[in-house]
Amino acid sequence: MNEPTRPSEIAREALRRLAERHLAPTPANYQACYHEIANLPNVAPFPEPQLRQLAGALKARNGEQERLLQEIDAAILRRSWQGVQDGFAGFAAAGGGKPERFVAPSVLPAEFATRLARFVEVVQAALGDGGELLRTGLAELLVQLRGPAPDPAVVQDSLARVAHHASFVAEEQGEIRESLLKLLQLIVANIGELSLDDSWLKGQVDGLLAAIVPPLTLRRLDDMERRLRDVMDKQSRAKARSVAAQQQMREMLTTFIKRLATMNESSANFQERIESTAHKLEQVKTIEDMAPLLQEVVDASRWMAEETSVSRNQLASLQERVLATEAELIQLHLELDNASALARHDPLTDVLNRKGLDEALAREIAAMRRKEVPLSLSLLDIDNFKRLNDRHGHEAGDQALVHLADVARRSIRPTDTLARYGGEEFVIVMPETTAEQAIEVMTRLQRELTRAIFLADKEKVLITFSAGVAQLGADESGHDAIKRADRAMYLAKRAGKNRVMAA
Ligand code: GH3
Ligand code: MG
Ligand code: MG
Repeated sequence: MNEPTRPSEIAREALRRLAERHLAPTPANYQACYHEIANLPNVAPFPEPQLRQLAGALKARNGEQERLLQEIDAAILRRSWQGVQDGFAGFAAAGGGKPERFVAPSVLPAEFATRLARFVEVVQAALGDGGELLRTGLAELLVQLRGPAPDPAVVQDSLARVAHHASFVAEEQGEIRESLLKLLQLIVANIGELSLDDSWLKGQVDGLLAAIVPPLTLRRLDDMERRLRDVMDKQSRAKARSVAAQQQMREMLTTFIKRLATMNESSANFQERIESTAHKLEQVKTIEDMAPLLQEVVDASRWMAEETSVSRNQLASLQERVLATEAELIQLHLELDNASALARHDPLTDVLNRKGLDEALAREIAAMRRKEVPLSLSLLDIDNFKRLNDRHGHEAGDQALVHLADVARRSIRPTDTLARYGGEEFVIVMPETTAEQAIEVMTRLQRELTRAIFLADKEKVLITFSAGVAQLGADESGHDAIKRADRAMYLAKRAGKNRVMAA
C-alpha cells in the first residue's frame, strides 16, 4: 500500500494508528503518530520503554515522591512529555532533606555480594574456630551472598549477628594471645634458669625475654622463633654431649670395678698360698723338705707379680681412655662455643648473621612480591678498619663493630633488618623502601655515626663506611641484589670512601 502523502490522509491514518495501539487520544500521541506516518525525520518517537525503566529505577523516600512516581507513570502512559518532565522535576524537588528511611536496593549488586563473600571468607580464616554460633553465622551469610539474588535485608541481619559473635571471638583471641605470651615468658625464663652456667645460652635467653613483649608482630614472632630454635639447637647438642659422656664414664667405671675385683681375688689367692706354705714350713724338719716349699713361694710371688703387672697395664690404658674422653669433652665444649656460628645471631654484635640474613631476606622478598611494594638493601663496609685494628688492637676493633651495630640499630626502622654479612661488613634490608629512600637511610646513618663518638684507648675515633644500595628487581634473588650492592660499595670505595652509591 502507498504511504499517504496528503495531510488529510496522514491525519486519518494517524487516528487509525492511535486506535490500533490503544493510545489515549491526546495531542502529543496524535502528533507522534502523525509525525511517524509523515516520516518526519527530526521527531523521535516517544521513548516509552526507556522512560519506564528510568521511572522504575527511582525509589520513593517519602509520600510525596511516591505520589509523583504514580504521576510519572500516568504521564508515560499518556505519552505526555510535559507530564513526564513535571513529574521528574517534582520528584527531584521532593527528595530534599533527610530520607525518612534507608530504602535498600531489592537485590544486592552481584559484584558487591562477591566481594563481601570474599571478605567474609578472610574473616572466617582469621578468626579460626570461633565457636558454633560464629561458624554457622558465617556459613549462612556465605550461602546468602552466593545465592542467585541476595536479599539486602536478610544479608544485613546476618551481618549484624556475625559481627556481634565476631567481636566476642576477637576479644577472646586477644586474651589468648596475651596469656600465650605470658606462658612463653615463663618457659623461656625456665630455660634460662636451667642453663645459667652457659653464658652464650644465657645471652640468647635474655634476648628472647626482651623480644617477648607486646605488641606482638609477625616480625617479632619470627625473631623469637629464630632465637628459640638456636637455644633448642644448643640445648639438644649439649644434652647429646652429656649423654654420650655419661655413657663412656659408666663403661669405664664398670671396667675399673671388675679390675679391682680380680685384683682382690688374685691377692686373696696369693695370701692363701703363702699362708699354707708358711704353715707347712713350720712343720718341716729337713732342708730337703724345705726346698719345694720355697719353690712354691717363688712361684706364687712370680704369679702375683705377673698379675699385678697385668692389672697395672690395664689400669694405665683405662687412665689413658679417661684422659682421651676428657680431651674429647673439652673439644666438644669448644665446638659448642662456636655453635653461635651455626645460629642466626652474631654473638659479638647480636645482629643477625649470614644464616639469619638469608632467612629474613627470603621472607621479605616473599612479602615484597605478595604486597607489590618495593624492597631495598644496603651493603656497608667500614672504611680503613684494618688501620683501626692495627692502631688500637683487635679488642678495640671488636668494640667498634659493636658500636656501629648499635648506632645502626637505633637509626633504622623496627621493620628493617640489620645483619653482619662478614668481618666488617653489614647488610640492612629495608622493606617498602625505594632505592632513593634507602640512600637517605644510609646517609642518615653516616650522620649518626659522626655524632656518636667511639672511644678507643680514650681516643676519639671516627668510624666511617662506604655503602652500596640496591632495590630488588621483580624477579631478582636476594643473592643477586647483594652482589649488585657489593659492586656499588666497591665503587664507593674507589671514589674515595665514606659515601653511599646506588647500584
Ligand atoms: P677498606 O676501607 O678498603 O674497607 O679497608 P679495610 O681496612 O676496612 O678493609 P680490609 O678488608 O683490608 O680489612 C678488613 C679488616 O677487618 C681485616 C680484618 O682483620 C678485620 N676484621 C674482620 N673481622 C673482624 C672482627 O671480627 N674483629 C676485628 N677486630 N677485626 C676484624
Ligand atoms: Mg671488607
Ligand atoms: Mg673495610
